[in-house]
Amino acid sequence: MTSPRAEPPTRRAFLSLGSNLGDRSVHLRKAVDQLRAGSVPAVTAVSRVYETAPVGGPGDQGPFLNLVVELAVPAGTDPYQLLEQCRRLEAAAGRVRTTHWGPRTLDADIVWIDGVELDDPDLTVPHPRWRERRFVLAPLGELAPDLVDEADLAAAGGEVRVVGML
Ligand code: AMP
Repeated sequence: MTSPRAEPPTRRAFLSLGSNLGDRSVHLRKAVDQLRAGSVPAVTAVSRVYETAPVGGPGDQGPFLNLVVELAVPAGTDPYQLLEQCRRLEAAAGRVRTTHWGPRTLDADIVWIDGVELDDPDLTVPHPRWRERRFVLAPLGELAPDLVDEADLAAAGGEVRVVGML
């Protein structure tokens, strides 16, 4: 009798993707497609798309489209590999860093990795501001209600509204 092959253990990771420059939906769609094109880590869920008011940065920038992607990351994966992946997504969207927190074609942040806590100069996980931002908490709550406290969601800053699916 053949024994079923054990799946390698994975842990959940959540990325927040946002765009407020150019064709915002195209930037989000391409980023999710790019994540899906790589087999590891696997994309296991994608939230609905939210239109959200900019939080911080210059006051004259337009609204963002935001979503959250859930990944199944092989246990033991270096979180910096995921940060590299975020940077590749931003580069592929032609992101140019000008004003801090200014308009951008794509922002890709690691919000959370199950069991990972890191506070380095280049990478903080969980993301330092995720619990204050409704544009993160609202889509994250769809995919991981266990991580999102209703009181945090109510207290978080920034207006959000669902505008559809990718
Ligand atoms: P931003 O310009 O807001 O996209 O900031 C990106 C920089 O923040 C990256 O170059 C990272 O080194 C740093 N960073 C720290 N923690 C995180 C995180 N959890 N996810 C993404 N970037 C992070």
